[in-house]
Amino acid sequence: MITEFTVPDETHSPILVWFRKDLRLDDNGALLSAVATGLPMVCVYVREPEHEAVGPLGAAQCWWLHHAIQALDKALQAHGNRLVFKTGKARDVLLALADETGAKAVYLNRLYERDEIDAEILKALHEDGLEVKRFKGQLLHDPHTMRTGSGGPYRVYTPFWKALEADGEPREPADAPETLPAPARFPSSEDLADWQLLPTRPNWAKEFETLWTPGETGALEKLEQFIERPIHSYKADRDFPGLTGSTSHLSAHLAFGEISPARIWHATRGLHSSDHVIHFRKELVWREFCHHLLAAFPKLRTDNWNDRFDAFPWTENDKAFEAWTKGMTGYPIVDAGMRELWRHGYMHNRVRMITASFLIKDLMIDWRRGEAWFRDTLVDADVASNAANWQWVAGSGADASPFFRVFNPILQGEKFDADGDYIKRFVPELSRLPKKYIHRPFEAPVEVLQKAGVTLGKTYPKPVVNHFEARDRALSAYAEVTGKSAQADPRD
Ligand code: FAD
Repeated sequence: MITEFTVPDETHSPILVWFRKDLRLDDNGALLSAVATGLPMVCVYVREPEHEAVGPLGAAQCWWLHHAIQALDKALQAHGNRLVFKTGKARDVLLALADETGAKAVYLNRLYERDEIDAEILKALHEDGLEVKRFKGQLLHDPHTMRTGSGGPYRVYTPFWKALEADGEPREPADAPETLPAPARFPSSEDLADWQLLPTRPNWAKEFETLWTPGETGALEKLEQFIERPIHSYKADRDFPGLTGSTSHLSAHLAFGEISPARIWHATRGLHSSDHVIHFRKELVWREFCHHLLAAFPKLRTDNWNDRFDAFPWTENDKAFEAWTKGMTGYPIVDAGMRELWRHGYMHNRVRMITASFLIKDLMIDWRRGEAWFRDTLVDADVASNAANWQWVAGSGADASPFFRVFNPILQGEKFDADGDYIKRFVPELSRLPKKYIHRPFEAPVEVLQKAGVTLGKTYPKPVVNHFEARDRALSAYAEVTGKSAQADPRD
């Protein structure tokens, strides 16, 4: 716990518990500490249109948020409390609530990505006489305190992982409180429906409902299912998008703080299949690493970590960008990924790498446009993980994949979706193509296409670019900017 500002304690006045991306009762430092005081609590969610986390939430996350805060409200109500919904500048809303309820303190959990925004808000609250207490729990480790031997931030993942390992086991998570003392009278609340977070015309989120259960219960269920079976083959299966349920699907729950990383880590303690478990833990630590990079370089979302990329000659090809967003590039694995993203608000990690590489290298479109598209369409969009991974693929980031690793979308498809199961799920117009051509329909003989009911350019697009020409163009551009000539790795 970090006590930011303290003023003399006043008995019986309630504590404002300010929920943000920590939408859970379990392992929630702010909530538990408020309960420990024995004082009544006013739980509040403030919609801050100007900076929901950092920058407005994307459309897919608006859908998620609606259900997540509804679930939190329900959970609080089951414990005799409730969630108060408010819109406005957090500082103004919290001060008004303190006036209305007589609250003398605000408890909250730290969100590293909005430290700068929070500093001003918390200062204003304190200046108005409120006690402000902030707690940790978003990450396993404080991203600001991890330092290399020479005192700087880590730029490479492996030493970062080793340093965390050497640091010992993360703390144990704390269980949800049993009671949540309520005030004698709740302050007025807005109606969640009025926030219009859900899409209406058209309702593009229809499939989301069959896939996702936003909220803490959904998160804990996902964790339980994953620990039960998939984790025991995680390392072997995680790269194959055709295998449903081979990864945890916890990312959106983590992004909204419906489950703490400490709870997930704890659930993996004492499990057998250690190689798989370690690999899973390493992925959780990638999330930590992304936050570490963001803490070291707050402009991660907008600026190249490596400024040599500032001179990169990106193209403004709007038509190609649109084809990419719609899953109509003519490369089946890219199109399947982009359609999965649109339909499910999610994309398999391997395919995120392939689609990002395609945008950046085959289409030579600025990684920031891809980052923004993902931010708008992913339910798990997270400022640190999204920006760090986009920069990783672009080659402009810390510990980035070298630019000359240009994924070949055909070979990637054949390697990671050999039978085309993933393609058939998201690009059904190709489902009758034989395995030999499912990742390269443009090479299929006319009679094969006819038999499968495929007419290129009509029922399925012709490739928007020739991958090999596009790759050479990207590598030449890279050589011009960096002065280094680069050869593509044929295995990619
Ligand atoms: P699992 O394989 O079960 O992994 C467990 C957890 O580890 C994940 O839930 C996630 O929190 C974390 N994790 C796994 N891989 C990574 C990674 N490469 N970087 C950071 N954390 C990781 N992840 C996000 O959470 N939000 C994003 O906005 C996001 N954008 C991405 C953009 C690109 C271009 C790429 C290549 C990857 C991105 N990722 C992002 C990382 C990764 O694809 C997802 O975390 C993962 O696919 C989520 O599925 P899962 O929960 O089943 O993961």
